[in-house]
Amino acid sequence: MVCAIVAIVALASSTAHAATGYADSVDAITAQLKDDPILVQQILGSGDAKLVHRRLRAAASKLDTPVYVALVSRPRDVRTDRPSRDLIVRLHARLGDGIFIAATNDDLLQVAAWGTSYSSADLSLARYRAIDRIKELRGNSARHEFSVPAPGFEAEVILDLAARPGLTLDDKQLKTLSKQSLSFPSNEANAEHDEDPPSTGFTTMIGGVSGLLAFLVLFRGISWFGARKDAPRAMIAAPARPPHKSSKPETMSPERIRALAHSELDALTVRMRDQSGTIVDPEALERAQSALQAAGRALSQKNLSADVGALVLSRIGARESERSRGSRAASYVCCFLNPLHGEATSSISLDHGSHLRVPACAYCSDSPAEPDPLIIPRPGPDRPYYRQNDVWSRTGYGSIASDFAESVLREGAS
Ligand SMILES: [Zn+2]
Repeated sequence: MVCAIVAIVALASSTAHAATGYADSVDAITAQLKDDPILVQQILGSGDAKLVHRRLRAAASKLDTPVYVALVSRPRDVRTDRPSRDLIVRLHARLGDGIFIAATNDDLLQVAAWGTSYSSADLSLARYRAIDRIKELRGNSARHEFSVPAPGFEAEVILDLAARPGLTLDDKQLKTLSKQSLSFPSNEANAEHDEDPPSTGFTTMIGGVSGLLAFLVLFRGISWFGARKDAPRAMIAAPARPPHKSSKPETMSPERIRALAHSELDALTVRMRDQSGTIVDPEALERAQSALQAAGRALSQKNLSADVGALVLSRIGARESERSRGSRAASYVCCFLNPLHGEATSSISLDHGSHLRVPACAYCSDSPAEPDPLIIPRPGPDRPYYRQNDVWSRTGYGSIASDFAESVLREGAS
């Protein structure tokens, strides 16, 4: 029996690797992986590195296949916009066959298998299915969380799946996984961003939104209230506010946004190739296909606005794909003020006392005095994205338009 080897690159605080130094290149990571089967460097705000290490070692011990897991800061010699994938390919070239799982701090987790009985596509698809199911089991609370699971958690799910015939977990295992505290990054992990002062005052923002609304009314030839009829549900109904004040969402670099968009589009592509299951809602499937196509188009534009668009479209597509197979989850609607905040959970009024409402995340609906609008760097003073004139501002990244994917496909690089 070939022993399972789990290599998890250890957190900087781990004493186990203090002596060997911090691996910041592919060769250094390879050397640590050869030397120490357990190595974790970054767990991206999901808690205790030693706990992740222990859990992954236990999960890997059930496999008869070599396994390498690297959860690391981006190595300095990995410069592509797909760092996790690039790292996996280069580790495989140095370490030989096995199951490889890698995530850098600025990319989503990737899994691949070479020279084993596992296929990369099957492992990937099984992972997405299991994560979807775990999110369902976590119920409504998961809808307020960042949609990307912590890499340590995701790696454990993959190893658990690989140990099971047919790559499926039973309900008991899924339930156990859904209760783990390290399962998803918590907003508290990003609390250090809280002191960053917003670069735009709320009054300015309101002016901007009013400008946008005027634009919508004048140039699209529609009235705001007419538009509301086919607008997402979240725009009209305002669910009860969560009892606690939400922390500021994660601030992401343009590189991480692009890497995330790539990864989530990959995930959507894998889901859409999945022929299993019965399609109960063909219209949802059509919407997922449009979103997939539009996300690909957006990513090819290679600019930050469009990268954000590709990310949101991938999330819309993923949700519609679930709905096409019978999921009762609502369609994905992002936070209008900043689509990078994730899913809208309520709506907020944009100009005091009026009926104009837009979808908003928990943070934006809790924190009107500390807005965090999406700002796309351009010449001149910073302005929220919705004060520009392009397909992204006109649709609010799909939050105020039901034909987002079609608009992106129609307007292309506008
Ligand atoms: Zn928000």
